[in-house]
Amino acid sequence: MILHRTVHLLTACDRSNRTFIERTSIKHNKCVCHMHSMHIYINDLPQTTSRTSHTKHVDIQLNSGMRTISGSIMSTPVPWLPILSSIAPAAIRRMSASVTVMDKIWQHPNLPVFDDVIAHPEVQLPSRSPIWSTVFHTDWSVDKAWKEDWFKTEVSNQFLITDPAICQPDFDLEPKDWTLLNHFRTGHGLCAATLHDCGIRDDPFCACGSKQTMLHIINECPLTKFPGGLHALHAAENDSVTWLRKLSIR
Ligand SMILES: [Zn+2]
Repeated sequence: MILHRTVHLLTACDRSNRTFIERTSIKHNKCVCHMHSMHIYINDLPQTTSRTSHTKHVDIQLNSGMRTISGSIMSTPVPWLPILSSIAPAAIRRMSASVTVMDKIWQHPNLPVFDDVIAHPEVQLPSRSPIWSTVFHTDWSVDKAWKEDWFKTEVSNQFLITDPAICQPDFDLEPKDWTLLNHFRTGHGLCAATLHDCGIRDDPFCACGSKQTMLHIINECPLTKFPGGLHALHAAENDSVTWLRKLSIR
């Protein structure tokens, strides 16, 4: 029931964020506050609830909200969404909540819950994942876990991000510039190749004659390429906003 309500709450939050951005041009970093509130709410759920497989319904809504904040299109790989939104992945935040709870229980053996968790009875249903079944390392931290997670999965343009836990450059840009910048960072944007794949354009070609991908626009195209390439654009160097605003794609 709690998860069901959470999914509804997140859907409403996501819709309101999208409406704010579309109608009032409110900046995405304000919407991050809404999303953070939702994450905190989820982390406060009882551990027995937040560790069930049903949390995937919550994660779908959280990802949808992060797509709104970062302006990402549907094909953008999920690991990019927390980085661009500057919100740690939900699974890691849940793990962090579990670590905190287990720490408290270990430090207070007089608590009635101590025997239930530390000297727990044998698990009768193997499909369950009780909090005591997770092995916690003493040096575990959100930032460290996030970094490990980021580098163990192959993601487009992964080399741009050396530390996923820091706020990425130009986080306070206008929404339309921020969105386009993120399309270049992830390599997933509304270029001719993507529009052609979706059946919206007849051909995938750029005005220069080559296939137009996001990487082509920034690194190779003689008509548009950015001095310093993707690295410089990501670091918001060499007047990146002026360059973004000159482009015909959005
Ligand atoms: Zn071109």
